[in-house]
This record gives sequence, C-alpha cells and structure tokens, in this order.
Amino acid sequence: MAKKRILSGMRPTGKLHLGHYVGALENWVKLQNEYDNFHLIADYHVLTTNLNTDDIYQNSIEMAIDWLASGINPEKSPIFRQSQVKQHTELNLIFSMLITASRLERNPAVKDQVRDLKIENIAFGHLGYPVLMAADILLYKGNVVPVGDDQIPHVEIAREMARKFNNQYGFVFDEPETLLTKFSRLMGLDGDAKMSKSLGNSILLSDEPEIVKSKLKKAVTDTQKVRKGDPGRPEICSIFSYQQRFNEGETVEIEAGCRSGALGCFDCKMKCASKISSFLEPILEKRNYYENRLDEVKNVLNEGEKTARATAESTMTEVRTKMKLG
Ligand code: ATP
Ligand code: MG
Repeated sequence: MAKKRILSGMRPTGKLHLGHYVGALENWVKLQNEYDNFHLIADYHVLTTNLNTDDIYQNSIEMAIDWLASGINPEKSPIFRQSQVKQHTELNLIFSMLITASRLERNPAVKDQVRDLKIENIAFGHLGYPVLMAADILLYKGNVVPVGDDQIPHVEIAREMARKFNNQYGFVFDEPETLLTKFSRLMGLDGDAKMSKSLGNSILLSDEPEIVKSKLKKAVTDTQKVRKGDPGRPEICSIFSYQQRFNEGETVEIEAGCRSGALGCFDCKMKCASKISSFLEPILEKRNYYENRLDEVKNVLNEGEKTARATAESTMTEVRTKMKLG
C-alpha cells in the first residue's frame, strides 16, 4: 500500500523559533520515514502580513536552512516554494467558488490575526488565506497535516473543501487530518500564550547560548513570586513549560521547588537556558554547515520544486478531468 502523505508548511518571515519546532517541525522530522512528506515554504501567504516582498527570498533560504538543520532530509521530504508551483493558484481559484464569504468571515484565525497585528482593513486575501491553504494541502493529497493548534480551524476548512469538491465533481480528495504535538502552543518569553516572531517573545533555533541566557533572564515568570522563598505557580509560567519540554527529567523537582519557594526564578531560568542550549547545539552546528553551502540549499529547493510540480500537476490533471476542463 502506498505511504500516506504529510503536507505542512510555514511562512518565510525570518528565522524559526522554538514554537515552530516543538509545535510542528518536530513531527515532520519524526514522521519522514513513515510518510511521504512535502514541505511548503508559504511565500504567497507572507503577503497577508507584509506586502513588501524584498526579504521573502532571503527568508525562504533562512527557513530552508532551519528545516535542514532540524533534521529534514530533502531526499525523503521535498522542500519547495509555493510561488514556484503555479498549480497552487489554479486550485485556489477553483476552491474559492466552493465556499461562502460568510463561512470565511467566521474563521476564528482571521479574527485573531486582525487583533494581534492590528489590521485595520481586511483584504480579500486575508479571508481567502484558508482557501489557499486548502489548495496547498490538497494539491499534494495530504492525509496528515502536522501543525500548531492555531491552524486547526484552517485544516477544518481544507476538510470542507475536499468534501465540497468531491460532492460537486466526483471523488479526488481524501479529508486531511490535523496532527498536534504535546506542545501545540508553546508560550512566549513574555508569558503570552503563544511564542511568536511578531510578538517579539521568542527563542530562535539560531540563538547562541549567551543569547538564550540573556533572553531567559528577562523572561516574565509568575509575577506573584517576587524573590526566592516566595511560592510560585508553575502552571502559569512559560519557563516551567520550557522545562517540561527541554528538561523533562527534572520537572518533578523543579515544580516542587517552585511551589515551596526553595527554587528561585533566576536559578530555574539558568537551568532551563542550559538545557535549551544543549538542545540547540546540534542545530546550530548544522546551520553553520548549510550557511557555508548556500548552493547546496538552493539545489535542495530546485529539486524539491521539480518533485512538487510533478505531484501537483498529476492532481490537477485529475481535477480538470473531473471538471471536464481537460
Ligand atoms: P510567528 O507568529 O512567529 O510569525 P506564525 O504562527 O505566523 O509564527 P506560521 O508560518 O503561521 O508562523 O506557522 C508555522 C507553524 O508553526 C504552524 O504550524 C504553527 O501552528 C506553528 N507554530 C507557530 N508558533 C507556534 C507556537 N508558539 N507553538 C506551537 N506551534 C507554533
Ligand atoms: Mg501564523
């Protein structure tokens, strides 16, 4: 039996952070033997938050480096830019006729984006973001979509698009399923519920140990725990959530120390910084390798784009045939 497909992507808005890794990328790496993986650099999707395209190419390369450094094997998992596979825009157009504007207006992810980024005028393309994302997934017949939990409403729309298309024109698409990790929403350094580049509360996969330390020093913990001796509440603390992921062996002890007051925030932060840096060490090393071999990275994209185009065209041939547009 053919392997099931994974499709997942990210917007190239700069270097990746730990939230991207533990929320999604970790599952991509883990599952690349079991599934056929496709990984999309969603450069068109960047336009929803920035119309200036000057940095998109450079950011796409940076993101490809982060993916490769995190363990994505391009032989198993093609990496490609959305803008280089024209079939995305074709399927997007067809899908855009199969969903109502009011359904898209109810999408909670658009409401969050408008609030977080203080967007004053919602563009047609903002509402259409999940339609393009549905095309991204279904063009590769993605069965499984490993993403952070903010993407759940978008994958739900992709499922609806698959059903709508199949009902209208005949079966082409399986309904894709979301796959979450245990850390599907990593908290930010400022205590915000989500680590996010745009909120400036993130630890990058490319941060050197000194930077990790200085970022953690400034991180917000339980504001009621002012000094060592005061009891703290690990359940609301972002540092404790990082300990749970990067220092699993010591969490019981840390939790007890925080609650009793015996463990101060500074010591807790320094323990955590050291564990995060040990985790990042091999990634930094591999990043360094690829930064010095940019031709290799560009070649990975070229090859990935060829594979992606062939797969996308084969799906579009089925779509056009079902629609009698062939
Ligand atoms: P940022 O806000 O930092 O720019 P983003 O959410 O806009 O990040 P996307 O390209 O939209 O970045 O998301 C890439 C993937 O990473 C998605 O699957 C998203 O759910 C996941 N992700 C991003 N931030 C986090 C986080 N803090 N915790 C878990 N997953 C996350
Ligand atoms: Mg996002």
